[in-house]
Amino acid sequence: MGKVAIIGCGAAGVFCGANLRSSRPDLGITVFEAGKKPLAKVALTGGGRCNLTNSFEGITSVRQAYPRGDRLMKRALKEFGPEDTCRWFRERGVGLVLQDDHRWFPASQDAMEIVHTLFDGLKGAAIRTSSKVRSVLPERRILLEDGSVESFDRIVVTAGGGRDFSFLAPLDLEIVPPVPSLFTLGTDSPVRTLAGTSAEGTVSLAGTPFKASGDILITDWGFSGPAVLALSSYAARHLASTGYRSTLIVNWLGCTEEDAREKILEIKESNPSKKLSSVHPLPSRLWEFLLEKCRQNPDMRWGQIGQVTVNRLVSRLVSDDYPVTGKGRFKEEFVTCGGVDLGEINPGTMESKKHPGIYFAGEVLDIDAITGGFNLQAAWTTGWLVARAVASSI
Ligand SMILES: Cc1cc2nc3c(=O)[nH]c(=O)nc-3n(C[C@H](O)[C@H](O)[C@H](O)COP(=O)(O)OP(=O)(O)OC[C@H]3O[C@@H](n4cnc5c(N)ncnc54)[C@H](O)[C@@H]3O)c2cc1C
Repeated sequence: MGKVAIIGCGAAGVFCGANLRSSRPDLGITVFEAGKKPLAKVALTGGGRCNLTNSFEGITSVRQAYPRGDRLMKRALKEFGPEDTCRWFRERGVGLVLQDDHRWFPASQDAMEIVHTLFDGLKGAAIRTSSKVRSVLPERRILLEDGSVESFDRIVVTAGGGRDFSFLAPLDLEIVPPVPSLFTLGTDSPVRTLAGTSAEGTVSLAGTPFKASGDILITDWGFSGPAVLALSSYAARHLASTGYRSTLIVNWLGCTEEDAREKILEIKESNPSKKLSSVHPLPSRLWEFLLEKCRQNPDMRWGQIGQVTVNRLVSRLVSDDYPVTGKGRFKEEFVTCGGVDLGEINPGTMESKKHPGIYFAGEVLDIDAITGGFNLQAAWTTGWLVARAVASSI
């Protein structure tokens, strides 16, 4: 009987194991998990609701969703994409719902349904919890914490992200240094007094090409919301290199300067006797804050303002700057940017080029995505590719 070791009982490991169990029930699978509970992280995903994938609607290029690993994912998603994920879970009795923001969730809104379904698929495999693999060794061997060495016909590494890749050191693989991705941005600006206010616009970092659009949420710490989280993903490595200090440029309307000017002139022309504070293109508190930043009296009438004031307002609306003073947490999701360099693996099978018989899937690889279900999709897709490759190789 062929012996397969899976290192890490998370999303990628269990999905790979479940697919292997159904295609090759004859194989002996052992899953090593450092923690006490399998699938502990999946239980927390999506704030306990598990945003298991995304319809990819509105995603114009794979790179927009996957700042790292886009080329591999573009190819891999054709083999096992979001429709395949939905079918996989539906075939196992999980009802799914698609939200307006293109994110898929279980209809039960309960991540534990996903956990149980995955775990059911793994039935028949040996699961060894509290079994940390100290090192993966060449020749398809693993060194356990108690000093014992075990040999396998195939090894699948699905140990997730994080900072410590030293357990892979004996394989002498290129590791892209890990840094966090998907975080909120801190600021010491008084904009924080507007916590809870949101607007749909564009955020960028001064002097860089990094830019993202969508909802921008002001918090008591700084900035959050899908646009800011996507920006943190695109600029993860850059921000790590600056110690999370930068200048955030907010375009509160998400439009060009000309369009913003047109909007302001239209308000001015249609409301000459109204106060600046009573007719505006943004939520009231935010607009009043911006008026103050422009040193503009909110009681002034729209008809009273001249060209200079129009220019000042337009420029503040499309290019409002804030100091970034640190990185905050996003409690619903965070991932690692970095991991095993994709040049080390065969993209069709996820097998190590240097070490035949050793495979990688999930966040341990240098693949990560913006928020919205794309990270779990990467775990399902790469886990599925490994299962197919292993099943056909022994
Ligand atoms: C709070 C939170 C919420 C999230 N929500 C979402 C979401 O809604 N949608 C989405 O798409 N993504 C979400 N993500 C990201 C997503 O959960 C991860 O991208 C995904 O779980 C990665 O799967 P994985 O199997 O590669 O790694 P993991 O799920 O992290 O699993 C790796 C496993 O390997 C084990 N392990 C590590 N080292 C060893 C070792 N040496 N020996 C043995 N075992 C080891 C770990 O204990 C762990 O159980 C969220 C992340 C977090 C932290």
